[in-house]
Amino acid sequence: MEAVFGIDLGTTNSCIATIGADGLPEVIKNLDDEYTTPSVVFYDEGDEYYVGKEAKSGMTVEVERIVAFIKREMSNTNYHREIDGKRITPVEVSALILKKVVDDANEQRSYEGLPPVKKAVITVPAYFGNMECELTKQAGKIAGLEVLDLLNEPTAAALSYGTKGLEGKTFMIYDLGGGTFDVSIMKMKNGILDTLATNGDHHLGGVDWDIALLDYVLMKNGFDVTYEDIKNERDAGKMLLAAESCKKNLSKSDKASFKLVYKRKQYVTEVSRAVFEELTADLLEKTIDIINHAIRLSREANPKIDEVILVGGSSYMPMVKERLQKEFSCPIRLDNLEPDRAVAKGAALHAASLVGEKRTKVQIGTDLASRSYGVKCFSRDGFYVANVIKRTDDLVYEGSHKFYTSNPDQKAATIAIYENISEQDTLDINKCTLIEEKDLRWGFPVPESTQVDVYVSRSSDSTVRIWGECQGKRVDFVIQYKGMYSDEEIEKLKTELESKRV
Ligand code: AMP
Repeated sequence: MEAVFGIDLGTTNSCIATIGADGLPEVIKNLDDEYTTPSVVFYDEGDEYYVGKEAKSGMTVEVERIVAFIKREMSNTNYHREIDGKRITPVEVSALILKKVVDDANEQRSYEGLPPVKKAVITVPAYFGNMECELTKQAGKIAGLEVLDLLNEPTAAALSYGTKGLEGKTFMIYDLGGGTFDVSIMKMKNGILDTLATNGDHHLGGVDWDIALLDYVLMKNGFDVTYEDIKNERDAGKMLLAAESCKKNLSKSDKASFKLVYKRKQYVTEVSRAVFEELTADLLEKTIDIINHAIRLSREANPKIDEVILVGGSSYMPMVKERLQKEFSCPIRLDNLEPDRAVAKGAALHAASLVGEKRTKVQIGTDLASRSYGVKCFSRDGFYVANVIKRTDDLVYEGSHKFYTSNPDQKAATIAIYENISEQDTLDINKCTLIEEKDLRWGFPVPESTQVDVYVSRSSDSTVRIWGECQGKRVDFVIQYKGMYSDEEIEKLKTELESKRV
């Protein structure tokens, strides 16, 4: 079989997998002999980059030269960082992370005489819209990959479990990573995997547990500050790593020591798992609220969950499984204690099926849309957005919204279309992104209160079409997700990167 790969380009860690000689997905270790690589980039003064563990350890010294959690910014087209006067975009940072993961895998493979990594499936969060997906593809191309497909992370996780007894079941993928939380409710019937609901919080993850623990230790040692107050001080990065390390130890034992270094002095604090769990119980409760909301959003009303599958590094915390077991009486599964590798493995299985490998038994069925589309409206309180088609509506869907002209002899109206992730009928305009604003000119005067319709339709491949109509006159909106770079720019960035070892 042709060698193909699955890459989990994660918010905190990334991971690459392929299909082994036994036909099963296997993760390729990096050069630090670890299965996952921190998604952290360090830019040094000499125009060199360091990615992964080395970069993460740089967090203890030069915070201003570090870029972490970049995936959270993929949807923010205005985001950029400036280091040594150079503008750095989320796409470029993602390309560096991909290149590191691929270069390390190639090094390992070359020892075994295997060909280098070329064709890959990259995973993306379920909430990514077309724009973020296009940008992820561009990052893959800059890293020298042929991107076979993008795959939703929860779908990937389910695929990696696929042949292990999910048939006929409705299950929940609970994915608690380092910086994000996602939940999906899925169903597998006759080998076809359907998504019933997705929900999440993209600013909730392991790092919040680290901060809660750090704040406690600061307080215990008599400092009247929190991490938020001192996050730009030179000791802050090191403190956060110490918190993470203590947290991880608490997953294994009932007690762990926290070594806090602040203002040139070390303070050692013993923390028990019980105290840690108490400190962070509210964070865990937030995930439960998000789950319950996902159940309410489900395309099938009141789905009965037969299994919960834990994914993401933070699922190693015993409190996660214990709390979920209280909420659901069904089995709670942690993939052979490797929740941080399930997504990459599922992506490798999907890549294999795309090049014709028959061993994968699961087919991907109905997915959900990731975005809602609405129109700008006006009320006495000001502007708001009325959703015409919601992310929770069926994937194939057509919706419309009626307006009425407000002036006598009106010959035109301006229609503004907004994108958002809400499933509500109306919402605050500041929570939406403007897609396009256009004038619909019908060219002849109509009386006040004449109807103007706006239509939004979505097809099975997630293509969205939008148009407005008044008395037979129509104006079409063109939604283009071109990504950030032209083909020439991608080639240029790719060539620049090829010569570098990250
Ligand atoms: P991921 O993005 O899925 O790789 O998850 C990364 C997050 O998992 C980070 O916040 C880690 O601190 C956390 N994590 C990894 N291993 C453990 C562990 N053994 N116990 C608790 N948290 C962990």
